[in-house]
Amino acid sequence: MAVKTDWNLPPKIIALSNADTWHKAVREWHLVDIEILDPGEFDECLCGHRPIRELCHIANHENGNKTIVGNHCIEKFDKDDPGHEVFGDTTKAFQAAKRIFADPTASANEALIALAKQQGVFTSDNAMFYLDIWRKRNLSDAQESYKNRLNHKLLYQMILSKRVAYQRLKLDPERGTAGPKLIQYAFGQGVLRDKDRDFYMQIWERGHGTLSDGQAKYKAGLNGRIIAQLKTQLDT
Ligand SMILES: [Zn+2]
Repeated sequence: MAVKTDWNLPPKIIALSNADTWHKAVREWHLVDIEILDPGEFDECLCGHRPIRELCHIANHENGNKTIVGNHCIEKFDKDDPGHEVFGDTTKAFQAAKRIFADPTASANEALIALAKQQGVFTSDNAMFYLDIWRKRNLSDAQESYKNRLNHKLLYQMILSKRVAYQRLKLDPERGTAGPKLIQYAFGQGVLRDKDRDFYMQIWERGHGTLSDGQAKYKAGLNGRIIAQLKTQLDT
């Protein structure tokens, strides 16, 4: 299959792959995560295009290489290989992810639900529930609160970068959550000890009101430490 010569991505992907043709190399890659950056931050696509704010983290399952590709380039991957759409419908997944980024009560769509299930962010039960209600306008209180919990998982396990999670934590250091990406980053930076990380990873998803007084106080203390000690790295 012919590859457009004005597109820089194929040689760069081939360089990170075991195969030496684009057509074969593409099939070594899978989507690991999608992420949306803050208006103030940006990254660069492997093709050299910048700035990008809609990031696809992809990995090569033959050699373990990882890289970042922008949403526009992911679409071209699949267009070049019709009938073998390895990345699924990422454009549609990003549409829903952007809505939830802006409004945590917005609804996911089928593409984002499928991606979350594929990445292990959603269990089969989570995905089944969401597929049942995502188009519905009137939800019961119980459905509403279940959906909010699932959106919380989507945000903190996929959509938000650690920098955005930091900015959101700063707005509510008492009751807010750091989420797994920021917790792991803080641990890597020596801000959290092993037992802090283990504790926080167990309770990050829980609503503030469901924690015991001791747990709530412990969490708020860790939040304070994260906010103060990661200021230079993450406060823009
Ligand atoms: Zn690109």
